[in-house]
Amino acid sequence: MNEHYDIVIVGSGAGGGTMAQALSSSAARILILERGDFVPQEDENWDPDAVWKKLRYRAKDRWLDDRGDEFTPYTHYGVGGNTKFWGSVLYRLRREDFQAVEHADGVSPAWPIDYDTLEPFYERAERLYHVRGKEGIDPTEPPRGPFPYEPVPHGPEMAEIVEKLRQQGLHPSPLPLGLLRVGEDDGCILCSTCNSFVCKLHAKSEADICCIRPAIQRPNVTLWTNACARRLVTCASGRKVVAVDVERNGQTSRISASLFVVSCGAVNSAALLLRSASPAHPDGLANSSGLVGRRYMAHLATMMQGFHPFRRNSTVFQKTVAINDFYLRGPDTTYPLGQIQSQGRTHGVMAQTVHPWIPLWPYEQWVARGVDWLAMSEDLPRLDNRVTVDAEGRLRLHYQPNNLKPHRMLVNETKRILRRLGFWLVVTHSHGKKNTTHQCGTLCFGTDPRSSVLDPFCRTHDVENLFVVDASFFPSSAAVNPGLTIAAQAIRVADHIKDTELGEVGTTP
Ligand SMILES: Cc1cc2nc3c(=O)[nH]c(=O)nc-3n(C[C@H](O)[C@H](O)[C@H](O)COP(=O)(O)OP(=O)(O)OC[C@H]3O[C@@H](n4cnc5c(N)ncnc54)[C@H](O)[C@@H]3O)c2cc1C
Ligand code: SF4
Repeated sequence: MNEHYDIVIVGSGAGGGTMAQALSSSAARILILERGDFVPQEDENWDPDAVWKKLRYRAKDRWLDDRGDEFTPYTHYGVGGNTKFWGSVLYRLRREDFQAVEHADGVSPAWPIDYDTLEPFYERAERLYHVRGKEGIDPTEPPRGPFPYEPVPHGPEMAEIVEKLRQQGLHPSPLPLGLLRVGEDDGCILCSTCNSFVCKLHAKSEADICCIRPAIQRPNVTLWTNACARRLVTCASGRKVVAVDVERNGQTSRISASLFVVSCGAVNSAALLLRSASPAHPDGLANSSGLVGRRYMAHLATMMQGFHPFRRNSTVFQKTVAINDFYLRGPDTTYPLGQIQSQGRTHGVMAQTVHPWIPLWPYEQWVARGVDWLAMSEDLPRLDNRVTVDAEGRLRLHYQPNNLKPHRMLVNETKRILRRLGFWLVVTHSHGKKNTTHQCGTLCFGTDPRSSVLDPFCRTHDVENLFVVDASFFPSSAAVNPGLTIAAQAIRVADHIKDTELGEVGTTP
């Protein structure tokens, strides 16, 4: 063993990055381990060909699906994790999402905390990530104060569409977006390459820019890039983690610490715990419930495009509006259908990835006349939807989507809305089972150690100095984007760690 820290944080995305920022003001000596590197600031950041065809920034991992076939997961390893690529739609869950809700395919379970518990941390997360929005318009909005920043104005076509949506009796609302210094000299220019791209101007609110870079300015915080945590090592009783084995530049070292925060994303955090099995934890670390890796969820998401042959769409930044009228119930059902959002502009290259043999120019003509949308529904936790690690250490994702009927209803409802807006045709596309962008739920939190892996402060029930703060803790997936909830819970857990784990001078006693 060659180095000791007070706290090791594994992963620097929405959970780990926010945690590092929130703990950095303590005196604790903190080491952040990140398996990827900084994403370079370069022209390719905004090049659809580099991002969508050459998959320049995509993780190189190959995972196995439930049939044992390899696939490239839609995920990214680097400082800031997937937040570097997110669309920065930063939603609070609705109050109802914290409660048990009857869905078409069963019950979406209650969370061990309610909305009011997380509300002050949502407020802090919104300030940290510079969220722009307007309260009092969205019919599903939970009680809240004003947004820290004014909403992004709709582009001309979108403004017209919003007016027509209101005429349809709907309640369109501004999407809450994390964008830095919009319209200022060094700020966001509201371009057409945001969602799924890296911001070349560093003007997107994401964990690298908002959390990690400020945190590592402090003398007590160290970041190791290209440092992959391979295994957590416990003491003989198994009650405490004493060290992490880290692979860096081809060498493995063992780093000891008093407290560990795992934040590798829902799939990789579960895999790390499973790979850390030992005589004290034969089924994987902190797995006395048998739930490590189980209950994987990822949302049901369909990309939709309304097309009109004679209407060119001149809106550059299109991702500004949400329709939540069907979030709590459908027009003809008592169960929830989900959310509709306008999406960033589709580029010809992106559309071409669906049918690569068709030349690019018809796609370019097509997308110039399209308006893009996303229909997103909740999927429910199922024990059989799970992450496993095989004898060779390969990661396998078993996932059968559920709650499909309400999602189909939401897609059909969206088609009706778009046709009423005058679009001649509505095309749809889904990544289906391979969509890992909103992965969550594999180490769910709860009060009962028999039915959850983490306690309500995201500490593992079984191991006293091990926390997991990333999308893993979600007991249900809700139907809004997960990022702000991950960040809010990270701030809440950081406060708890400061209150209960750090001694007088801010280090672990
Ligand atoms: C294209 C895209 C668009 C999205 N848009 C939105 C959006 O608009 N709004 C929203 O809320 N969400 C969005 N999401 C989802 C959002 O990015 C994720 O929910 C969020 O980043 C998850 O946070 P996390 O901390 O769980 O994991 P990540 O952010 O994925 O961070 C995990 C980190 O751990 C590192 N890591 C993994 N394993 C190891 C290891 N063994 N050792 C060391 N480091 C490790 C990874 O490299 C990564 O940096 C989007 C995702 C994608 C891909
Ligand atoms: S300039 Fe603004 S819209 Fe464009 S990528 Fe950066 S944050 Fe996103």
